[in-house]
Order: sequence, then structure tokens, then C-alpha cells
Amino acid sequence: MLTNIIEQIERMVLHMEPHRSVRFLNASPAWSLPKIQRGRFRRTLRLAAERSPFYREQFRKRGIDVRRIEHPSELGDFYTTGEDLRVHGAEAFLTGRADTAFETTGTTSPTPKRVFFSQRELNEMGRTSAIGLYHLGIRAEDRVLSAYDCSFWVSPAVLRMGLQYLHCFHVEAGKISPEEFYEHAVVYKPNVIFGEPSWLLRLSELANDRGTWPMKLLFGGGENITEEARQVVERVWGAPLYLSYGQTESFGTLGAECERQDGYHRNDLFFFFETPETDADGYGELVYTTLVRDVMPLIRYRSTDLTRLIDEPCECGLFAKRIAKIRARTDEMVVCGMGNVGPWVFAEVLRNVNGHGADWQAVIKHDGRRDVVELCVELENFGHHAAVERAVLDNLREGFADFWKNYEMKLYEFRVVPCEPGSLRNGRKLKRVLDQREMDSPRVV
Ligand SMILES: [Zn+2]
Repeated sequence: MLTNIIEQIERMVLHMEPHRSVRFLNASPAWSLPKIQRGRFRRTLRLAAERSPFYREQFRKRGIDVRRIEHPSELGDFYTTGEDLRVHGAEAFLTGRADTAFETTGTTSPTPKRVFFSQRELNEMGRTSAIGLYHLGIRAEDRVLSAYDCSFWVSPAVLRMGLQYLHCFHVEAGKISPEEFYEHAVVYKPNVIFGEPSWLLRLSELANDRGTWPMKLLFGGGENITEEARQVVERVWGAPLYLSYGQTESFGTLGAECERQDGYHRNDLFFFFETPETDADGYGELVYTTLVRDVMPLIRYRSTDLTRLIDEPCECGLFAKRIAKIRARTDEMVVCGMGNVGPWVFAEVLRNVNGHGADWQAVIKHDGRRDVVELCVELENFGHHAAVERAVLDNLREGFADFWKNYEMKLYEFRVVPCEPGSLRNGRKLKRVLDQREMDSPRVV
């Protein structure tokens, strides 16, 4: 009964104008959230068990009686994976009538994952996005130009919906070349630009040469960015670059940064977040359960992203708790002679080395005797190769004592391989760490 009343209030609050929503949610008592989450979790679980062929079968096989489950952790080692979506198909997860679908662009498989939604869900997601964007300072008088890729990607749809509640001017360019975008943009002079971070970086470099105009903020979604590259974008425009974190499976945004740029404020009203297994620093794979989806709910979905849940309040004062900056994708972490490495390690050893815009990729090989780590780096001038390699090794020695020790012990070889600019990235996402050892030679485990 109480939960129902709280939920009614919450729904009402989310349907207010964004500025009033933020004020109300900030003032809501701490005990109300767990109550809402629990009620929504149980409802979602029952819905999945009754209507989704995948979940019905899984729960039956594992002897899980959903009526007894009150908290996601009580499901033990039951999770939903991206592979489940690929193998069983989206239809096996459906619990209601779908109006639309989006697809993932992964780095792990050529088969996309399809995820279905309803118009109602799209609306709700748009409302919460509007609240987040309002908190960042977007107002009705702003002019927004978006370069989000409209091909099967969920983010432009959610953005369109969110901006409608903020009543601002909005033009969609789609993902075109930064050069072409720039030509159009000088006419509209948008003061807010949305795009993928690596794309925003190239646009900013271009604008640095050709000229900028007053900008309120830039907003990046779809991938991570190094702090170094973020600073370049911010310096060029004299405006902040904020990032969001999300997945197509989650219907876009799971969280977004605030002006502190210290982690993503998460949406605990729509998702139940867990990191079931964590390391000494509190980092573990993010697992989430959808709480308000009735077309294709996901129970304990493994995000494959390595992060930490931050429950301490943020200095910005927003009610929402946070997810730390994503460290790596768990499927991009590799155990090799160097140690347990992921993309952040290589991003770190390249800090202040290879020029902010250049792409890179680490390839792990085996030469028959030991593992070889080849760090492919796009270089304008191949003559700098030796200097770059020296600088990278210096960073490795200073920043990663364990990896350096293994290097000195010759447990692996480490090389910097120069590549032509623009040669590494051929899709929307670049797989940062590539393990080629299986392909090189059969290994006895
Ligand atoms: Zn904050």
C-alpha cells in the first residue's frame, strides 16, 4: 500500500517540468527508494517468469520460485548475458507488445543484439533524460545539434524524446564526417553539441583550425574518452564536455555526469545495480536489472563493464548516487605474461605520449616462447617511433610496478608498433585489447 502511494508520487514527480522534478527528487526521503526498487523488482521478476519463454525456462531448470525472491542477490549465480540475447533471440525475452527495436554495436561479435521497447518506455526514458540534461544546464533557449548515429542506435531516439520536454531547438545531423558537420554547424551555431567522444575530438581539432563560436556544453555518449582528450575538447570550445554511460540493452542512459565530472549519476528508479564480485578497490562487473520495463525486461544483465558503485553523495548535491568511470570491459581484459591487463593500462602508458587524437590498439600475441604485447599506435611521423617507445616504457615503469617487474623478468615482450593515422578504426567501436594468441598457435592450458 505504502509502496503504491510512493510510486504514484514518483510517477507524478517524473511527469512534472524537469526543474520541479529535480527539486522534488532531491527532497525525497532516503527510505523511499529501496521500497520502490523492491516493489518494482518483484513485479518485474513475476512478469518475466510468467511471460518470457527464456526466463520461464531458466527459472524452471534452476528450481527458482520467483514468489520467494525479494532481492536480485537471492537469485544466486543466475545472470542474463549478451550471449543469451544473441543465442535465444530477443523474442524469447518478450513479455509485452513491442513498438520499436534498437540494436547494439559490439566489439565482440558480428551478430548484433536486438532489444525491443514500447513507446511508453521511450517516453519515460525521455523524461528522465530531460531531468539529467536540465541538471547540466540545458534550457529552452538552447540550440542543440546532434551527430549521434541514427542507424539502429537507441541514443538519438532517447535524446529526441528528452529534448522535447526541455522545449529546445534541435537539429539532427546524424553521424556524418566532422568536416561536413562543421559546414552545417557554422550556419546553425549550436551552443550544445551531442556526439560520440572520439568524433567530438576530431570536430574540435577541426574547429580549432577553422574557428569556434560560443558553446554552453558538449555531450558525449557511446564510448569512453581519456581525460587528456576531454581537456582538448574543452579547451577548444571553452566549454565542458560531459559524458553519459549506457547500453542499448538498458535503453540508453544508465547514468550521466554532472558538472563535477566524477562518475555517472545513476538511475536507481529504473534500474537495480549490483557489482556481485569486486576486487580490493571495490571494482567489479556492473550487473543491472530493469525495474520499469514491461516489453523486454532484463534480470541481472551482465554489462561486461568494470566499475564501482559510489554511494557517497556527490558535491553537486544531486540526489542520485553514482557509478564510477568505467575502467574496462570485462571481455577486453586479458591475462597474459604482462599480468591482468585491460584498456585503461594502455591508455595510461600512452598518457602525454602519442598525441591526444591518435587511436591505439594493444594486440597480445605469442611467439612460441612467450607472450608478446604489441601496442599499435597511430603516428603522424614514423621517425618518432623510438622516442614514443621509450616514453611508453618510462610510463610503464613509473605507473605499473608489477607489469614492469614482469617485463624485466622477460615474462613477455613489449613493442610499440607505429601505424598510419586513421588505420585502426573501421567501425563505430574499436576493440582496444585484442587477444590473438588462440589464432597464433594452439596453446595447452
Ligand atoms: Zn554530481
